[in-house]
Amino acid sequence: MTETATTDHVHFIDGQWQPSQDGAFVPAVSPANRKELGRVAQGDRVDARTAVAAARRGHEALAKMSRWDLARACNRVADEIEKRRDILATTLAQEQGKPLMGEAYGEVDAAALGYREAGELFKWMAGEVIPVETPGKRAISYRAPRGVYGVITPWNFPVNIPVEYLAPCLAAGNAVVWVPAPSTSLCAARLMECIVEADLPAGAVNLVHGPGPVVGDEVVGHAGVDGIGFTGSPATGAAIAARGAGKPMLLELGGNGPVIVLDDADPVRAAEAAAAGSFFNAGQVCAATGRVLCARGVQEPFAEALLAAAQKVKIGDPMDPDTTMGPLNNPAVADKVEAHVADGLERGGVLLAGGHRMPDLGSDLFFAPTVIGDVPPGADLNAAETFGPVAPIVVLDSDDELIAAANAARHGLAASVFTRDLARAFRFGEAIQAGLVNINSPSSYWELHLPFGGAPGKDSGIGRLGGKHTLQAVTEIKTITFDIS
Ligand code: NAD
Repeated sequence: MTETATTDHVHFIDGQWQPSQDGAFVPAVSPANRKELGRVAQGDRVDARTAVAAARRGHEALAKMSRWDLARACNRVADEIEKRRDILATTLAQEQGKPLMGEAYGEVDAAALGYREAGELFKWMAGEVIPVETPGKRAISYRAPRGVYGVITPWNFPVNIPVEYLAPCLAAGNAVVWVPAPSTSLCAARLMECIVEADLPAGAVNLVHGPGPVVGDEVVGHAGVDGIGFTGSPATGAAIAARGAGKPMLLELGGNGPVIVLDDADPVRAAEAAAAGSFFNAGQVCAATGRVLCARGVQEPFAEALLAAAQKVKIGDPMDPDTTMGPLNNPAVADKVEAHVADGLERGGVLLAGGHRMPDLGSDLFFAPTVIGDVPPGADLNAAETFGPVAPIVVLDSDDELIAAANAARHGLAASVFTRDLARAFRFGEAIQAGLVNINSPSSYWELHLPFGGAPGKDSGIGRLGGKHTLQAVTEIKTITFDIS
């Protein structure tokens, strides 16, 4: 199946596809050519409340299923994702804008794997028989689902990021009300079709489209929602933390990942990793290489290799098999990228490549792969999250300055360090305030089971996603004691 989505897409609530209670729809638009791809139901607070009520019943049904049943359900979703690989990848390319061959299929495959791994891992997550002091007493503990999860997701990986929550929630027996980002609603609808085919109890997974500040806000604050899984910006994360205060939350927020190139590093290897980190998904990655912190002395060969890598990027129609970078997803992100580039150049940065939109490619959301040298540390390109295809280079003099610059940012999600010296690798790995530090790999290197999340005291979130860590986060320890005297 590779047909384009041209039809109306509605909510999935209580085991039924259904329109909004007021019948509202909004268009879904391609970022590559601004053409309408279909229409999506626009939900409101009433739709959100209906979904929460359904999810409460869904949780009761899930709670009766064994871990083996739940793992089989996860495998059925994975089977459907694999069966619908073409339509999922095509929708991702058309609506999100990522290249079909180079990225979209990979995201779909990761989603299928995410379901399989979550089901399998929770099956084997054993509890404890806890020794107790009192004769005639026994105690056991095990991980139990929390109940109903509100899951709110962004548009940059609109298939795989939802699965990072939906799969562990299903594996552990939590029902879900899922509110996806509006600019990738069709991707959400296509993933939901796979879940629907897996024949889960009514209300187990509910999808409600609509504006985050309305539908998402209602879900987060609703007394019938027991836990929150959110991936998005620090500003929205702060609003959600306040609205859902007291509820267990996984908050996966923004990043501004530095790639740190030490003076003993191989500059070509570091540049290729920086290019991968800055240009993959047009830089719209929380663990992207948002900036390069380069030791003085190595900046020239590094910049030369980075420019060569930028020139190899083939920007264009995401559906073209030769394309390696598509458009940005939406006008807000394009405006921010443009503003950060202008700020960096005004403050004395030197434009080495790109720096502009490419409207001739079909829409003004195409932004050229950009490299900017001599960026001053105070520029937005270094201090804030750009979320676009820009590699800003900041040159510094000593290891201490490099560590201080890395840690000066508000964010602390992912970083990478290039060095041939094991002792320096450890020093930087331990000193950099980021949840993930990759030595001699791109800042964005990650596998589904590795713990991922923000460093303490930073604006990159709370808690850890990945494998058993998400399963622990969406469950709580239940203790039962027995008197057998
Ligand atoms: P965003 O915060 O604007 O939106 C995220 C989601 O929240 C969307 O579905 C949106 O509709 C919803 N939302 C908005 N306001 C809301 C409210 N008041 N209440 C409830 N929901 C609300 O973020 P975005 O622009 O979609 O995504 C980009 C951001 O996500 C970047 O900062 C990026 O770094 C971050 N991100 C983080 C990770 C991670 O794992 N840490 C992964 C991907 C993206």
